[in-house]
Amino acid sequence: MSGSPATVKTINLNKVYQNGTVPVHAVRGVDLRVDPGEFVAVMGPSGSGKSTLLHMLGGLDSRTSGEIWLDGKRADTLSESAWALLRRRKVGFVFQFFNLVATMTVADNVELPALLAGMSPRTARERREYLLGALGMTERADAPPAQLSGGEQQRVALARALANRPSLLLADEPTGNLDSRNTRDVLRLLGEVHRDGQTIVLVTHDARVAGLADRVVSLLDGEIVDDGVVPAPRRGPAGRVGDVIELRG
Ligand code: ADP
Repeated sequence: MSGSPATVKTINLNKVYQNGTVPVHAVRGVDLRVDPGEFVAVMGPSGSGKSTLLHMLGGLDSRTSGEIWLDGKRADTLSESAWALLRRRKVGFVFQFFNLVATMTVADNVELPALLAGMSPRTARERREYLLGALGMTERADAPPAQLSGGEQQRVALARALANRPSLLLADEPTGNLDSRNTRDVLRLLGEVHRDGQTIVLVTHDARVAGLADRVVSLLDGEIVDDGVVPAPRRGPAGRVGDVIELRG
């Protein structure tokens, strides 16, 4: 095991929502460790707690009990504002609502987190050009988000999440709205940043996305029921990554 602290560690993490008087145990006793540079795909049927887990890791949802550690620091006991600061410095998000700033261009949306994290304007611009280029979005750099399709907004959100080279990328269905060509661009970029050392935890139903991961964590009814190393991708005759993961649910 590496000497550096885990990028993510959870200990007996639980989330119970109160639906009126009915408690919904969305995440149950999750112990998860993700080491620096690891790429973990979280899979499982709808309602199994994947989004809730991801939201808690990013501090977007509070835990009911248990511990969350990010880069060796206890995160779940931080104040809202301290967690917001930690998040800004360390975590990039792609969630289902992309939350792009409507009054800024695509380019500025992507550069902003890098500038806020203290990157020089020149480095932030280069990083933005690389990310938008990799996602086939260079031509849309000056557009406002309102003029983009859902799939385009999703790719901008991914570029924004990666702009400041966060310790951790959290992504909920990052290919959910994309056609196959754009999915390929996203897969290629995720592979590249992962090879560069980016730690990634993402929720996906897509076996091609999971096929890029080092590990697949499977949730069922809020519990981890499987946590395994992904076998090396099988290549089909056309050289495409084959479906190596069995989908559940
Ligand atoms: P998944 O991402 O795997 O589809 P979720 O984390 O969205 O699963 O949901 C897990 C369980 O928690 C489900 O039973 C869902 O209905 C419930 N749940 C999710 N969010 C809320 C909420 N805000 N309030 C009440 N129940 C919720």
